[in-house]
Amino acid sequence: MGDCIFCKIVEGEIPSNKVYEDENILAFKDINPLTPIHILVIPKKHIKSINELKPDDEILIGKIFSTVKQIAKEQGISENGYRVVSNCGEDGGQEVKHLHFHILGGKKLGTKIV
Ligand code: 5GP
Ligand code: ZN
Repeated sequence: MGDCIFCKIVEGEIPSNKVYEDENILAFKDINPLTPIHILVIPKKHIKSINELKPDDEILIGKIFSTVKQIAKEQGISENGYRVVSNCGEDGGQEVKHLHFHILGGKKLGTKIV
């Protein structure tokens, strides 16, 4: 949508390091990894944030979490554990206004989220 960076990644206009792709979902490595494993999982269609989710998106979101589980296994972090984060809006610190889920792992994370 417009000048959305993640829509451009979906369209291939901006390159990314893809780890998973299907008809509706794309996952790629974060350009600025905060942990040894830092992957973003996004719906291919432009949804601004959790706030814009509609009941029709429920199956998509379920599939995104099944994808998170699969990626975590492939990346070898399932057993040790990992964190899934979706920042929403101003106070949530959302910088890219296209719904995304961070998978953070590969090291022992802090116990506090904020
Ligand atoms: P947010 O702060 O919106 O939750 O997270 C946005 C994330 O997108 C950040 O972790 C940032 O590093 C990542 N990011 C921003 N632009 C790009 C890009 O062009 N390519 C990739 N792979 N990641 C990006
Ligand atoms: Zn977008």
